[in-house]
Amino acid sequence: MIKLSQPIISEEEIQAVSDVLRTGMLVQGQYVADFEQALKKYMGAQNVLAVSSGTSALHLALAALEIGEGDAVFVPGFTYPATVNVLEIQKAKPILIDVDASTYNIDPDKLEETIINYSGKETPKAIMVVHEFGAPAEMTRILDIAKRYNLFVVEDAACALGTTINGQHVGTFGDIGCFSWHPRKAITTGEGGAVVTQNEKLNKRISLLRNHGLERLEDGSMDFVLPGFNYRLTEFQAVLGIHQLKKFNKWIQKRNELVEYYYKFLRECPHIQLPKKIEGHAWQTFMVVLEDIIDRGNVIHSLKLEGIETNLGAQAIGELTYYRKKYDFENLSQHTASNLYKQGLALPLSPLLDKDDIRFITTKLMNILKANE
Ligand SMILES: *Cc1c(COP(=O)(O)O)cnc(C)c1O
Repeated sequence: MIKLSQPIISEEEIQAVSDVLRTGMLVQGQYVADFEQALKKYMGAQNVLAVSSGTSALHLALAALEIGEGDAVFVPGFTYPATVNVLEIQKAKPILIDVDASTYNIDPDKLEETIINYSGKETPKAIMVVHEFGAPAEMTRILDIAKRYNLFVVEDAACALGTTINGQHVGTFGDIGCFSWHPRKAITTGEGGAVVTQNEKLNKRISLLRNHGLERLEDGSMDFVLPGFNYRLTEFQAVLGIHQLKKFNKWIQKRNELVEYYYKFLRECPHIQLPKKIEGHAWQTFMVVLEDIIDRGNVIHSLKLEGIETNLGAQAIGELTYYRKKYDFENLSQHTASNLYKQGLALPLSPLLDKDDIRFITTKLMNILKANE
């Protein structure tokens, strides 16, 4: 079976994790500090805090910015539900913005139009940007909009480690950036994540919120200064992260090579639209969009029979039961997000694949699409 994606864990890493387990020091110690240091260096970020998941990173971002009841937040309508779930948990109101059909990212024109026409009772507080599948969102325009309307910017970079805009890593543009190390992402610690910020005060606050609001005083005693969470990463996860990050440059290069083959082999493929090529894309996922006349379920099933695992890419939030019932969004079926949710097809992409695998996948896909006409 050619898997959609898979974690790459070496014997050396398994050994490193075992070594940490034998030390008996298991939670948020030196390895977590070293992992944060390595991430800081890799991204050129001011502050990085390792946390227990991408979702806890997002939750910490909102809690640190004190976004909650009475606040409205603009968020793309096509993403993994965690992005919007944390808003609900904070009791803030999500305002869905449609995405671009070829980048799958928030459309800055629609964002500004929605902000201008906004008349809800909640106060607009922030824009949550998602760098979907590793594609950099249009940060220059989004930061400009945020500045003009006095909004915070939280970047959901869960899929976007290694994504850059003019050489600058995403996650460092907005007030806070959030990353995930889930096995489906580019590097993994099992579960895990990180919060990035260029703002010292926010960093301090996130650091407290990550660990019960616990502050260590100079005389060695402790105080609890905020009602915080436990969103810590473990030492054995952190040591895995340190090793994964060392290999990441090589992996990202391989991902880019494989994506070039996808573009080459799928150029003549009928009934699909390829994603837009963007400079600085980290290619966590390669998702194509099938024409309306093609039944995606059939395609996924037929590919599976050929030994190829594929899946949908991400969710249209407005189409999900909870959000549909609560907000009853207008004209959902006309949204690009809904079409991407229904017709998007994520193809296998992993540094473990090679040119022949991509040729095999694309040949089978083309045959299946022709047979499904
Ligand atoms: C994976 C993902 C998350 C959630 O990350 P977890 O580590 O699984 O909690 C959030 N947002 C996006 C866009 C993601 O892809």
